[in-house]
Amino acid sequence: MIERLKNIKEEVLDKIDQATSVDGLNGLRVRYLGRKSELMVLLRKVKSLPEEQRKEAGKLGNDIRKNIEDLINEKVRSLAVGVRDHVIDETLPGKKIQAGKHHPLTLFIRKIKDIFDGMGFEVIDGMEVEIAKYNFDLLNIPRDHPARDHWDTYYVTGGRSTAKTKEPGEQLLLRTHTSPVQLRSMLQRKPPVRLIAPGRTFRHEATDASHESQFYQCEGLVIDEGIKVTDLIGTLKEFLKNIFNEEIKIRVRPEYYPFVEPGMDIDIMCVLCGGKGCSVCSQRGWLEMLGSGMVHPTVLKNMNVDPKKYSGFAFGLGIDRLMMFYYGVKDVRLSYSGDLRFVNQF
Ligand SMILES: [Zn+2]
Repeated sequence: MIERLKNIKEEVLDKIDQATSVDGLNGLRVRYLGRKSELMVLLRKVKSLPEEQRKEAGKLGNDIRKNIEDLINEKVRSLAVGVRDHVIDETLPGKKIQAGKHHPLTLFIRKIKDIFDGMGFEVIDGMEVEIAKYNFDLLNIPRDHPARDHWDTYYVTGGRSTAKTKEPGEQLLLRTHTSPVQLRSMLQRKPPVRLIAPGRTFRHEATDASHESQFYQCEGLVIDEGIKVTDLIGTLKEFLKNIFNEEIKIRVRPEYYPFVEPGMDIDIMCVLCGGKGCSVCSQRGWLEMLGSGMVHPTVLKNMNVDPKKYSGFAFGLGIDRLMMFYYGVKDVRLSYSGDLRFVNQF
């Protein structure tokens, strides 16, 4: 019996050595350690052996069984390590996929576009890098005009422009307002015209809770025969009513802008406090929302439009401020922080 046991051991060790799969090893386990396997049958016969052989054969048989079991288990583990990459463990928790969200400014600009689109306005794009001529000169802001100090401008060097050598009107800059779009749009259009141009603008200024060096503006331009100030006010009231789903009180204040005459700032009554004053409106009860006015005859001429026949209004709406007011955002810097905790709230 001892011979036979030793033979079995040799045979199994060879087979374990040659096994290349976990299935194969499990097959060996059944074949050599199963209840009906030769080894088990022999082990059951040990007790009927003569006493002097019983002890040795029993110990050897049990050692071999233990040995085979250990070797099979070890080989199964080593194979599993090798194929780990191909094994899918369905019980593990999955990786969470981050879904993208739209920035509140994107959402709000879409809303503005939809509303003006519904009012028959064309939505156009402008350029963020402008030529000084379009940003200032043709908008009736001459070189030495003090109004030019209203805007702290980022000038751009490189490309066609060098800030020092170029003629001032040819200098490249980051547009300080969306008004150049008025001029450019009229190079390809004839009145009547109704359009808006939302986009980014830039000013060199220190940032705080209500000021950023970049911000979004929405330019509006309407040119036709017989356009009056009341058309401007009516259009803006209709727009605000659509944004807030209620009638919004506005306040018109005279203001000077070189490209409009008369020029005016339009405030809206704080919808949060009803004009009584709160932290959002800095206790004023009113929020400055946009600059506007009737397009200056000189600017109309610069657009190749006859000021004797046509008139028009223009406005520049501060999108960031209106968006903050709409969603209740307290600090404009959050918009550009890149903080996903902010964006994920909308
Ligand atoms: Zn308020």
